[in-house]
Amino acid sequence: MLVHNQIMELSSLLTRFSEPETLRMAKLGRELRAKGFDIIDLSLGEPDFDTPQHIKEAAKKAIDDNWSHYPQVAGYLDLKEAICYKFKRDNGLNYKPENIVVSTGAKQSLANAILALVEEGDEVIIPTPFWVTYQALVQIAGAEPKVLKTSFANGYKITPEELEEAITPNTKLFMFSSPCNPSGAVYKKDELQALANVFKRHPQVYIISDEIYEYINYCNCIESIAQFDEMKERTIIVNGLSKGFAMTGWRLGFIAAPVHVAKACEKLQGQFTSGACSVTQRAAIAALTSPLDTTNEMVEEFVRRRKRTMELMKEIKGFNFAEPDGAFYAFPCVDYYFGMSDGQTTINNADDLCMYLLNTAHVSTVTGSAFGDEQCIRISFANSMQNIEKGFERIKGALSRLK
Ligand code: PLP
Repeated sequence: MLVHNQIMELSSLLTRFSEPETLRMAKLGRELRAKGFDIIDLSLGEPDFDTPQHIKEAAKKAIDDNWSHYPQVAGYLDLKEAICYKFKRDNGLNYKPENIVVSTGAKQSLANAILALVEEGDEVIIPTPFWVTYQALVQIAGAEPKVLKTSFANGYKITPEELEEAITPNTKLFMFSSPCNPSGAVYKKDELQALANVFKRHPQVYIISDEIYEYINYCNCIESIAQFDEMKERTIIVNGLSKGFAMTGWRLGFIAAPVHVAKACEKLQGQFTSGACSVTQRAAIAALTSPLDTTNEMVEEFVRRRKRTMELMKEIKGFNFAEPDGAFYAFPCVDYYFGMSDGQTTINNADDLCMYLLNTAHVSTVTGSAFGDEQCIRISFANSMQNIEKGFERIKGALSRLK
């Protein structure tokens, strides 16, 4: 019997993973702001733009037209057709509606796919730096994340040799994002072809290709690994509306996958959440079938901010970084500062440096350790030019006090 005040034990599942560091930093920033501090948030993982008008109009119409009933679990058929149209238009890939599962955000799509594919005893190769949630989802599924270190020198991309060496008979899944959050690295066509050639020798390995930043790139070089021979049958492309259409709060993601994987994801989602929000789904059709003018305008602004961010980064002593080809983050190595102190706080690692910047400069960033890289921090340029400039001014000042 439950005695008053006694806390019953929770599932051990909760001990397998931690809260996303990105959300934790955003929360700490909000707490300091609530106490009256002027916090500049460069930890943000979302466009600071408003959702384009034509998409909002489609949503308003959906409400007026009473799209208010439970939608199909895997998504409305005409949305799945619109997604197939997008894959053809943007990626040259042919999919049918049965390959598509719409979900409540790319995060849910990833969760569906990982739970559908792996379990205890399976290994999942995740190259660093990786998006925070990958490792946690693999741990929730009971499988083992095998973190594969990439290097600054290699542009944070793995080589075919490194991939070949990492694959074991237990490897069931390889997952990566390109453009990468947090490094901004984008795999070129020949680099993906080389990885595909390795996968051909290991037919037991599935690939999750997270392409959520596909539109936000500065190289005009977006390619999907699914395009190569034999790859489409084992690749799950994850994408969504959050980044490219400034729709993070609307919560819509989708996968394109082999039919048996799509069916498995639908089965899981049918028990977890059912179909994604009906109004969002109607708005998504407008987003995916309209010209990408508003997306391109947003990207033009990111181009300007990236350029300015790179100029400002160059002014900071000890920052070692590559220019991102995609996404909206700078990812400098900051180990130059390890062991230094301002007389009060000693910086031992990237976590300490982020906390130091938050507490003394009132700028929030995210530690690289959240992404599997202990030498770096992630600085988002999804903020106004004014805030970026002010943020870097403060970062520069705070770092100059470290000796
Ligand atoms: N994948 C990557 C690489 C991301 O950065 C994010 C969001 O930050 C997601 C997936 C999840 O996106 P969504 O908002 O669609 O859940």
